[in-house]
Amino acid sequence: MRLKNVPGSKEYIAESDFVIHDEKEQKGRLLEYFSNDNPIHIEIGMGKGQFIYEMAKNNPFINYIGIEKYSSVLIRAIQKMEAEPLANLMFIRMDAEDIVDVFCEKEVDRIYLNFSDPWPKDRHAKRRLESRQFLERYKKILKEDGVIEFKTDNNELFEFALEEVKEANWQLLACTRDLHADAELSEGNVMTEYEAKFSAQGNPINKYIIKY
Ligand code: SAM
Repeated sequence: MRLKNVPGSKEYIAESDFVIHDEKEQKGRLLEYFSNDNPIHIEIGMGKGQFIYEMAKNNPFINYIGIEKYSSVLIRAIQKMEAEPLANLMFIRMDAEDIVDVFCEKEVDRIYLNFSDPWPKDRHAKRRLESRQFLERYKKILKEDGVIEFKTDNNELFEFALEEVKEANWQLLACTRDLHADAELSEGNVMTEYEAKFSAQGNPINKYIIKY
C-alpha cells in the first residue's frame, strides 16, 4: 500500500476510544473492551478497515479487532467509526510480528488476512503474513477449531502461501483461484477495499481457508 503521511495521525490515534492502547499490557483483558464473552475475530493488515467494519456491522455477536501497522491508514478506519460507531469493533496499531504478546493462547476464533503485502524479494519471505513463521505465531493464539481466511489477487503470493500451509502441516479446508466465480465460497463474501479495486480491473481473487 502506498502510504501518504497524515500529519497528526499518531496523536489522533493516541486519543481515540476506538483503539486498544498499550496493547501488550492489556493481554488477557481484551474482552473487557466489549463487555461480553463473544468470539474474537481479527483482521491483520486491515488498511482503512472497509472489510472489518462491514463484517462487524453484519455480525453484532462477534467481537472484531482490526490490526494495522501504520497510523496514516488506521486513522481512516477510526474516522469511519466516529461517523457510525459499532460496539463490537476495536483497533490496535501494531506490527503483527508481536501478535503473541497481545493475544493469549487460544483466544482467537478466526484470523482474516486480506491482500497482504507481497514482499516479493526471497530474503523478505518471513515478513509475509502467510509465512511459516507467522503461521507458528497464529497457531499459538488460535483456538483448536479456529481458522485463517486469506484472500489475494497476487498469484505468486498465493502459491507461496499454499506451500507454507503444506510445510507447516496445516489443513487446507477450502481453496479457490477465482472466488467470485465460486458459488459456495463467494456466498456472503464481503469485499475488501483492495478486492473491489483489483477485481474491477479483471483480476481473479484467490482464497484459502486453513486450520492447524
Ligand atoms: N486488507 C486491506 C484490503 O484488503 O483492502 C488492506 C490491504 S494493504 C495491501 C495491506 C495492509 O497491511 C497495509 O495497510 C499494511 O500497512 C498492513 N500491514 C502489512 N504488514 C503488516 C504487519 N506486519 N502488521 C500489521 N499490519 C501490516
